[in-house]
Amino acid sequence: MSTVLILGGGVGGVVAAGTLRKLLPKEHRIIVVDREQNHLFAPSLLWLMIGDRKSQKIARPLARLNRKGIEFVQGETESIDPEKKSVRVSGRELARELAADALIVSLGADLVPQAIPGLKEAGQNIYTLDGAESISRSLSSFAGGKIVVLTAAPAYKCPAAPYEAAMLIDYHLKRLGVRAKTRIDLYAAEPAPMGTAGPEVSAGVRQMVESKSIQYFPNHQVTEVDAVSRRIKFANGVNADFDLLFYVPPHRAPEVVKNAGLLSESGWVSVDRHTLETKFKGVYAIGDVTAIPLKMGKPLPKAGVFAHGQAEVVARNIAAEWTARGEKHRFDGVGQCFIETGGHRAGIGKGNFYAEPTPQVAIKQPAIRWHLAKILFEKQWLWKWF
Ligand SMILES: Cc1cc2nc3c(=O)[nH]c(=O)nc-3n(C[C@H](O)[C@H](O)[C@H](O)COP(=O)(O)OP(=O)(O)OC[C@H]3O[C@@H](n4cnc5c(N)ncnc54)[C@H](O)[C@@H]3O)c2cc1C
Repeated sequence: MSTVLILGGGVGGVVAAGTLRKLLPKEHRIIVVDREQNHLFAPSLLWLMIGDRKSQKIARPLARLNRKGIEFVQGETESIDPEKKSVRVSGRELARELAADALIVSLGADLVPQAIPGLKEAGQNIYTLDGAESISRSLSSFAGGKIVVLTAAPAYKCPAAPYEAAMLIDYHLKRLGVRAKTRIDLYAAEPAPMGTAGPEVSAGVRQMVESKSIQYFPNHQVTEVDAVSRRIKFANGVNADFDLLFYVPPHRAPEVVKNAGLLSESGWVSVDRHTLETKFKGVYAIGDVTAIPLKMGKPLPKAGVFAHGQAEVVARNIAAEWTARGEKHRFDGVGQCFIETGGHRAGIGKGNFYAEPTPQVAIKQPAIRWHLAKILFEKQWLWKWF
């Protein structure tokens, strides 16, 4: 009997656990540890933000994994010993017999709005459930004025999300009849939208945003925000006022991963780009907690589609090794991403991010069918893994 210990019950953790459970005989144990009670389907936060979803529709209790033969432990991972493949959870060391034969770290990225003075106090966080719910309430009573959507650092998970957020807000305000009385500005720390996906995708997304009369200001790194005067200061000397400020916070690798000695100079976990193994044998890291450098100089974007694909590869390879059945798999950097543009339409970017010298990604123009495909994906994903 062997044990796989999976840290994190987000996209990577849940997919790794479910895939392993299908492939491994019952005597092998699969344990998932997460501090939260519920898994949240993050892409739907953007719909929740404009009142098109309720939180209970996009969350699932992680305890449901127990019904599939996966042991869920709710608790804080306080320390990780990658040599021994053991972890300390919520102050209690898991019993020695629970120490793992394989360890999968899928702890995601911590969100740190507090890294920018005043940001948390002045704005609402697009990337959390509380933040998206609060944005929904603010928009429903908004009578017009100036909305700023802000990326507080140039690299963040789901590089499409702030652009989608701005376009969905435009759509929602039209529905509410206050768009004509509202200015929407998008200030981005990065030089262009979705830069890693290449110039065609980047220009395509910029065009989608600007066609909705959303003013786009790239290369604006926020340095501080004053909640009282509702004023944002940028590193280039520009100041901007707002009535409502919706932001994507800076990200950081979780402290527990840092303390385990798993981080590289990039500030994230470095892994083999095809197997996701770390420098410790039998210890894997997947999803947002990793940084996989690409030839073009930027890392693979942090996105659920990659966490998902990497989880399947790691799970299949562990199962193949333990059962001496099945082939070894390699993560190939292929992924796709819907880009919601409002009005029941979405575009889609699809391609190979491992292609060299630059990722080969194509973009399709907004259409009803990509929006419907995203809804179908949401329903199927939650149904399949829970
Ligand atoms: C608004 C929004 C929209 C998005 N849209 C898309 C999209 O359309 N397509 C796409 O591909 N991606 C999208 N993403 C990105 C996607 O959600 C993430 O890339 C994905 O969830 C990463 O998976 P992960 O397993 O690496 O981390 P996560 O899913 O973040 O999971 C990490 C888990 O670890 C837990 N955890 C962390 N530290 C500890 C600890 N010390 N102890 C215990 N538990 C801990 C957390 O509670 C969490 O459950 C979106 C994200 C947001 C916020």
